[in-house]
Amino acid sequence: MKKRYIVLLSTLGCASFLCLYNAFLEWFLFLALFGIAIIVQLLGGSRKKQRSLSVLDGLREGVVILDWEGCVCEVNQKGALFLKQDKRSLLGMPFFDHPRLKKGYPLLERIQESKLPQRVMLEGIELDLKVLESKKKILATLLDSTGEYQKKQLGKDFVANASHELRTPITIIKGFAETLYDLPEISDAMLTEFTEKIVRNCQRMDNLVKNLLTLADLDYLPKARLQEVDLVGMIDNCSHSLLALHPEIEIESFHNEEYILVSGDPDLLELAIMNLLENGVKYSESPAFLSITIADFGDSIELSIADKGVGIPSEDLDKIFERFYTVDKARSRRMGGAGLGLSIVNVIAVKHDAEISVTSTVDEGTTFKLVFQPASVLCV
Ligand code: ADP
Repeated sequence: MKKRYIVLLSTLGCASFLCLYNAFLEWFLFLALFGIAIIVQLLGGSRKKQRSLSVLDGLREGVVILDWEGCVCEVNQKGALFLKQDKRSLLGMPFFDHPRLKKGYPLLERIQESKLPQRVMLEGIELDLKVLESKKKILATLLDSTGEYQKKQLGKDFVANASHELRTPITIIKGFAETLYDLPEISDAMLTEFTEKIVRNCQRMDNLVKNLLTLADLDYLPKARLQEVDLVGMIDNCSHSLLALHPEIEIESFHNEEYILVSGDPDLLELAIMNLLENGVKYSESPAFLSITIADFGDSIELSIADKGVGIPSEDLDKIFERFYTVDKARSRRMGGAGLGLSIVNVIAVKHDAEISVTSTVDEGTTFKLVFQPASVLCV
């Protein structure tokens, strides 16, 4: 741009010098040419500005250019959208006077002093400030970070929870192992007690790691690998497995058809059903009593698993499907749980386009219901 002006002006300078020796007409021609050249320059400049503005308008970030005092010089459409104000009313306004940005004011002072990039989160907006090369302007970018931020936060919480859950059994195992090491002469009874505790906590860690791996696999699994699955047969198998583990319990089951087919991944469906059945046992006084019903209504299939256990307080009902949520932490720990079982069931339900719901009364029992679409709808 600057080069173009230098060439233009020097050309015109030479022309005017030559024209000094000529008549009025040449002077007139020279002035006309000079005028045209200026107009072309101005038009070129404004077209260039227009082009860069339309590029800015295409960005998904809000972009605002501020002067050194922090007043708005340029703003793209997304920027105006973030600030919920039209572009014109933003021009010239002190950027940090905007109600959504007021808390970011110290950033302006910091960047003016240090000239180093600054970043801050303000009510769901990620605001970045950078000094532009000319050093006389500041580039502010605004990004709606609610989705991204929440995702990051969820990831962080997940890692923190998982580490915490793993740490507890590790600490217990370490404690007992060290005691065994320090006390070579130990009674048989104590030895049995300590080793039992070590084994139980190893089991707990093993369960936790298995559940974490299952959740990770489910996250990357495409929608279930569908095939026809007979729920009646599956419930039969699950009941037998559960009775082998807990021979004292009682299970009754009902179904209105001999075969009830859903579209599903058999391994995942079995895992979900076993989790629900095992919870029925874990959260009941022994011996547990479970009732399983499968009903084919033609346009939907309902599977419900009911127990007569401790129940779930109503204020916890909408949280129990969250990862690591437990109503009674001590009880869950005693049972080797860490609040992951129902979140696995929930993800499996989502992968099968099934709806999961729960009803419960404290001290009376709990019923989980899964509603599937019939096999004919989803199987190809
Ligand atoms: P956990 O591994 O702790 O059992 P879950 O995700 O399976 O984790 O369950 C979450 C919480 O929901 C449990 O801590 C428990 O308090 C409650 N819960 C789940 N199933 C039942 C049930 N059948 N009866 C009573 N409470 C239940």
